[in-house]
Amino acid sequence: MILANGQSVKRAKPCPICEQPSKADSFPFCSQRCKDVDLSRWLKGSYAIPAMEEDDPDEDDFV
Ligand SMILES: [Zn+2]
Repeated sequence: MILANGQSVKRAKPCPICEQPSKADSFPFCSQRCKDVDLSRWLKGSYAIPAMEEDDPDEDDFV
């Protein structure tokens, strides 16, 4: 799988949240949890929303 910028997804980039190696299924983050962290960060920066429930680690498969 090749991204629009020609960079291969296989090339590991560190997660911007915790700097663990990212995974293809949650790219560019290492996990769904970090993805949610990033999402909530910018959501809070733009408009107020009710607190998001923290996902159980077992729910990583849910996309
Ligand atoms: Zn992470």
